[in-house]
Amino acid sequence: MKFDPAHQIQMLRQFGEFGGVNPSVTDSSTYTFLEAKTMIDTFHGDSEGCFLYSRHWNPSNKYLAEAMAAMEGTESGWVTASGMAAITTVLLQLCNSGDHIITSVTTYGGTFAFLKNYLPKFNIDVSFVNITDLEAVRNAIRPNTRVIYTESITNPLLQISDIPKLSEISKDNNITLIADNTFSPMIVSPARLGADVVVYSLTKFVNGKNDCVAGAICGTEDFINSLSDVNSGTAMLLGPVLDPLRSSSILKNLHTLHIRMKQHSSNAMFLAQRFKETGMQFIYPGEPLHPGYELLRSMMNQGFGYGGMIAIDLHTTEKANEVMEKLQHADVGYLAVSLGYFKTLFSNSGKSTSSEVPENVQKEMGLSEGLVRFSVGLDNDIQQTWKKMHTIFKETSII
Ligand code: PLP
Repeated sequence: MKFDPAHQIQMLRQFGEFGGVNPSVTDSSTYTFLEAKTMIDTFHGDSEGCFLYSRHWNPSNKYLAEAMAAMEGTESGWVTASGMAAITTVLLQLCNSGDHIITSVTTYGGTFAFLKNYLPKFNIDVSFVNITDLEAVRNAIRPNTRVIYTESITNPLLQISDIPKLSEISKDNNITLIADNTFSPMIVSPARLGADVVVYSLTKFVNGKNDCVAGAICGTEDFINSLSDVNSGTAMLLGPVLDPLRSSSILKNLHTLHIRMKQHSSNAMFLAQRFKETGMQFIYPGEPLHPGYELLRSMMNQGFGYGGMIAIDLHTTEKANEVMEKLQHADVGYLAVSLGYFKTLFSNSGKSTSSEVPENVQKEMGLSEGLVRFSVGLDNDIQQTWKKMHTIFKETSII
């Protein structure tokens, strides 16, 4: 069924208590109760519409969480102080000591490090698989498997996760499927395709300004409520709360996300086509020769393109460094980690955002030491950008 995440956001009716077109910012950490009994009821979760304390819920955070849930088509949402907070909160809520997780080996380096180095402290076992190999996923299932974890479009290799098939496998085995949709907001709606929980780094495309760090969790009402349970909720007890001032600015940026995604995607597609014409080695899921191209087409919402992420293989770190410095010097963009910014950002993944992944694992998963990941910006004149890139690629003998 056709789903339009941008329309879902556009249809939100959220306004301020004085009729402001933007919801008011609630910068209070605690809330008064006119009757003492209402406070008792609220602590027991029996009082609708009451706010208690801002680690629990804050009205500004609730607006952003509702908007994220609307975008994902889930019953409910939650916002956190970072993408990592969203990921770790969900995993720690779902898994107990003795449980097992199956994850894509290709994930953001921080996620990889948490799964590999941190969870063993709690006796939680993790199997790392090639998530595009569904047989490998099935074979990794154990009686104590609790979670399958993946990224819709993986960082940094831009593999495409088959969310409907992974959902089938999960449901058959009573496992929770978590999808990190940071690379593909609007383009893919994992919960609509069968994921149980969707996590985000809002730091990237959703906010799109690189002025803050934030995260979100989207899922069923029961699951989201469990996160804030005063006795056992991971969000309540670990406290990765987002500042409401930030929530309010991210919410405003969310309303332009669809326009930005279209421009990121069309600029990335333009560059991919030029890379192809010049015989360069690159990865872009909008390129028909990409192994996940047809799968992505079968999953994507219409009108937002194939995303703004593209990677080129320059084979060595030295070559990658040389080219990135020249690109920055020529104002193509910034040599910086992160993504989803209005300027193009580029970094050498193996030595930066995936440096937590040991070199032998990088090799096994096919991550070249010369891989440069681009988050293509909102350039109005992408032909001019390509001209500069082309000159630099020639100068450095890449083409
Ligand atoms: N998920 C993905 C796919 C990422 O690329 C990142 C950061 O680069 C994160 C999660 C972590 O997000 P944050 O930096 O907001 O904690």
